[in-house]
Parts: sequence; C-alpha cells; structure tokens
Amino acid sequence: MLTVFDGHNDTLTRDDADDFVTGREGGHIDLRRAREGGLGGGIFAAFTATPGHDGDSGEPAAPIGQDLAAALVSRTLGRLLRLEREGHVRLARRPGDLDAARADGTLAAVAHIEGAEAVDPELLALDALHAAGLRSLGPVWSRPNAFAYGVPFAFPSSPDIGPGLTPAGTRLVRRCAELGIAVDLSHLNEAGFWDVARLDLAPLIASHSGAHALCASSRNLTDAQLDAIGASGGLVGVVFAVGFVRPDGKEDADTPLEAIAAHVRHVADRIGVDHVALGSDFDGAEIPRALGDVAGLPRLLDAIRAEGFSEDEMERIAWGNWRRVLEAAWSG
Ligand code: ZN
Repeated sequence: MLTVFDGHNDTLTRDDADDFVTGREGGHIDLRRAREGGLGGGIFAAFTATPGHDGDSGEPAAPIGQDLAAALVSRTLGRLLRLEREGHVRLARRPGDLDAARADGTLAAVAHIEGAEAVDPELLALDALHAAGLRSLGPVWSRPNAFAYGVPFAFPSSPDIGPGLTPAGTRLVRRCAELGIAVDLSHLNEAGFWDVARLDLAPLIASHSGAHALCASSRNLTDAQLDAIGASGGLVGVVFAVGFVRPDGKEDADTPLEAIAAHVRHVADRIGVDHVALGSDFDGAEIPRALGDVAGLPRLLDAIRAEGFSEDEMERIAWGNWRRVLEAAWSG
C-alpha cells in the first residue's frame, strides 16, 4: 500500500478532536483510520472560524481578532505537542522527522496555521510559534486580515478578487522564509499570490486547491498560477472538496473519485508530475461519498493510477513531492 502525505486537514480543530486517538464517531481522520488508509503524514491546521459565519453560505467572512485566533492556535499546537509527548504522532520539525516517521510507522504531523491572525503585526508571535513546532503558515483563510486578502468563495469566478499583500504581509512572507516556515498560498487571492511569487523566496505551495481550468472556483489555481508554481519547484496539493473539483462547482457528495484524479492529471500535464501531490481538506470540507474518510485513500489512489501514472510517479504524488518541497521550504 502506498504511504500518503496529505497537505491539509482541519481534524485537530474539530469539537471531537479529543477522540483522535481513541476513535471519533464521524469525521474524516483519527489514528485508526489513518493507519487503515495508509496516511503516513500530513499538515494539521489550526483554523479559527469567523464566529457566526456559515462556510457554505457564500457570504463573505468577516475578519477576526488576534485574541480569538491566538487562543485557538495555542490550544491546537498544544494538542499536537501532547499527542507527540504521548507517542501518538511525530511532530515534524525537520525533513528527517518525515523519514523517521515513515520508517517507524508513526504518523508525522506538520503544524500549520490557516490564516495568520494569531500573529501580531511585529511578527513576534511567529518566533514563539516556530519554537513550538510551527512549520507551515497560510497568510489568510478566505477573509481579509492584516497581511493579505483571502479570496472569497465564488463560482464561477476568477481568483482575482481584492488587493495584494499588505506591507506587513510582505514582512510575514519574508520572515517565514528566514525561519523555515512553509508559506501556503491556498485561500490567498490572485494579487497576493503574484506578490508572493515575485518575492521569489521559496518554492510556491498551494496545499489544498484545484485546477481552475477544470472547476472555475475562486479557490482554484489558473494555469498561469500553476506555471509559476512549477517554475518555482513547488507543488499543488490537489484538494478533495467536491465544490472545488466538480466542473459544476456543486456541493454534491455524489462526485466520482475520477473528478479528483482529473485535477491531478491536469496539474501533472501542465507543470510536471513532480509538482502535484495531495491536499485533502479532510474534516474541513465535503468530500466524495465514494472516498468516505481517510481509510478510503487507497480507492482514490486507484483512481489516480488509472490516469496512467507509473508506480514511481504514484510514489512521488503520494509522498515524495511533499517531502522534497517541505525540505526546500524549511531550509530557510
Ligand atoms: Zn482551507
């Protein structure tokens, strides 16, 4: 069975995250199901919702304060550190941790914040978060903050909505490169994407997005953006969220796994198989019923394999590309 590194989940911010080890009732990831599906590692997000905002409403999400976000982030990072202390996960701080986790079968967890609201404009909190193990950061979720403009959910729509990085956002991206924190461009609008690309600091990473050519969601990457990601040596973690993979953009769980595989194929054809990987959005989005949860990963891998990838290519899509790009991002 192929071992998978998955670029994005919201598992540890769910209400029942305490049951991660013993087994959750529903949801997409817990330890037992991760093992069953061959999940060897993943990027675990701390995401703070806008209070009262229904993610599916299509209404723009209002900004949130640093106090709310910082409280959630410290709890989520603490949860990861406790899971590590108890031997349930290996918190990946350096590339060798990913290899060690794979070798001994412990789930590797990369700590991520989805939206940098927990970070003050002077970026002092970033040093503290890095020391606590943070190795990946999305400047924005789909709402504006002090650093950048998160793209609102819209279909059909270009991702070119709103202004680029603020001066604080430019400082944030530079500081992440210095510290060795990967910068995740999923949820960033197009102007911000190009601002980050122009800084030319690290491989460009979109941890959980799709191809705009196949699904015209504002959350997906245009072919020009894909080209920039490929040229930078970065990658796209293809998202499993039905609304971002279906050509009609509908939130319909009756979506075949072939729809996800088609995005993998498109990115590979456009920028090369070394620049495409997986980024589920488990526990953060509606995924195909045919996948179910993380235990269904082998079925998805079969659908991707059916696009004509060799076993060597499958290994890179499943694990190797994330391994390479995270090493480059963490080298600072
Ligand atoms: Zn997300």
